[in-house]
Amino acid sequence: MSQALENTQIPDSSAYMINNEPFYLPVADEKPLFTAAYNARLPVMLKGPTGCGKTRFVQHMAYKLGRPLVTVSCHEDLFASDLLGRYLLKDDETVWVDGPLSRAVRMGAICYLDEVVEARKDTTVVIHPLTDDRRVLSLDKKGEVVEAHPDFLLVVSYNPGYQSVVKDLKQSTRQRFVCLEFEYPAQEDEAKIVEKEGGVDEETALSLVGLAHRIRNLREQGLAEGASTRLLIYAAQLIRQGISPKNACLTSMCLPITDDPGLSETIVDLIEDLF
Ligand code: ADP
Repeated sequence: MSQALENTQIPDSSAYMINNEPFYLPVADEKPLFTAAYNARLPVMLKGPTGCGKTRFVQHMAYKLGRPLVTVSCHEDLFASDLLGRYLLKDDETVWVDGPLSRAVRMGAICYLDEVVEARKDTTVVIHPLTDDRRVLSLDKKGEVVEAHPDFLLVVSYNPGYQSVVKDLKQSTRQRFVCLEFEYPAQEDEAKIVEKEGGVDEETALSLVGLAHRIRNLREQGLAEGASTRLLIYAAQLIRQGISPKNACLTSMCLPITDDPGLSETIVDLIEDLF
């Protein structure tokens, strides 16, 4: 086998550029805060429940800041090498292929690690030297230390609702980020989002949001997480296609969020009250 080939050119960022402005309705001061963090190159953590707009926000900010965006959805089988890269055999030669994080570091992208806590522990360790003033990524297998491009920024998301003691971010990791907290948008804002993204009229959007609020209150009765903005948009998209509101809500805002017969019954009652 021939000697390992070097492949450390700066990757083409055009595939990672967002060309059309993603619709994002600000819910607080997250835009100026993120911009300030980006300008100071402070790593950012987005904390909040699933489906409340974190991913959309990063897409919007990457567009606004004119930076490429590299997104990685973290999961429990995500190894450090999946982020960093590995040697692969190609035409009898071993070629180093950068992983998404290495690519982002070289091209000066915003790298978004979605649900970072899901990743294996060895994965979180590789991001440490990137998130302090060293701003380097160590590719141990390749024997290379990559200095982050000046425009690079690491962003992670984290859903505190899911966390258990076993799966929590260590303080040594958490304390490397500034944190923006996300919640479901206020009622009128959420209705505007559902109207725009779901393609329904204002009245329907407001009804769906009203229902979501009632469902979210069931958390006190043991519901792990309320219906997300994403699910409201799903319901709206079904309604727009002629599915009855009752059926759309059952399919999008009840069945996905719980298997508990008692809670399901309560949600069905809430739906029937409304439609
Ligand atoms: P998360 O990353 O928090 O799980 P997403 O960013 O994927 O959630 O949000 C789910 C959907 O909700 C998005 O695709 C978008 O349609 C909508 N959404 C949520 N919040 C907003 C917002 N503030 N402005 C525009 N769309 C939003």
